[in-house]
Amino acid sequence: MAKGKRLILLGAPGVGKGTQAIRLAELMKWPQVSTGDMLRDNVRSSTPLGLQAKFFMDKGELVPDELIVQMVSERLSRPDCKTGFILDGFPRTVTQAEKLDEVLMRLGVKLDAVVSIEVPTETIVERLSQRLVCQQCGYVVQKNDGLKIGDRCPRCPGSISRRKDDEPETIRRRLQVYEEQTRSLIR
Ligand code: ADP
Ligand code: ZN
Repeated sequence: MAKGKRLILLGAPGVGKGTQAIRLAELMKWPQVSTGDMLRDNVRSSTPLGLQAKFFMDKGELVPDELIVQMVSERLSRPDCKTGFILDGFPRTVTQAEKLDEVLMRLGVKLDAVVSIEVPTETIVERLSQRLVCQQCGYVVQKNDGLKIGDRCPRCPGSISRRKDDEPETIRRRLQVYEEQTRSLIR
């Protein structure tokens, strides 16, 4: 097994963070920790966290920091994250980054790298408005998969659909939220 690494993937919605995180995770055997996927799991199974998060997610707004930090802290404390992990979609605010520092300190580990993926806005809007994903595992359908809505996912028993927040108005709001709340994190 490859030696572990602790990475953060940053980037606006639709730059391909999730796709790259899944590829890296499969190749290197590090767990992918996607806060978006974790939240969608919670929404699907109607947990108390899911019920609270859905309200924000459907509008393209960020879920409050306290909820997210608690969820990530628990996830990173599990044994499979001991040797490494890929954070995908977290942190997204300066407060989340500061809280992540505390979690890493408590676990006695350090980050190896932060990668920011940059893609022009027009490309992002075009991609997201056409994007199809697996409801269950978050797999993003690639052009040569030839899959359509309702088909079975190539990686799990889930089915292919469009994300509710991939509608033009919500996409615009998510990009605005990224500029307002996440861009400053890169500095
Ligand atoms: P994208 O990067 O395409 O917007 P994600 O799957 O990462 O998609 O996130 C979907 C939604 O989940 C976000 O719009 C937000 O509501 C919520 N979310 C995910 N990660 C976070 C986070 N770290 N902080 C706050 N909200 C989050
Ligand atoms: Zn799937």
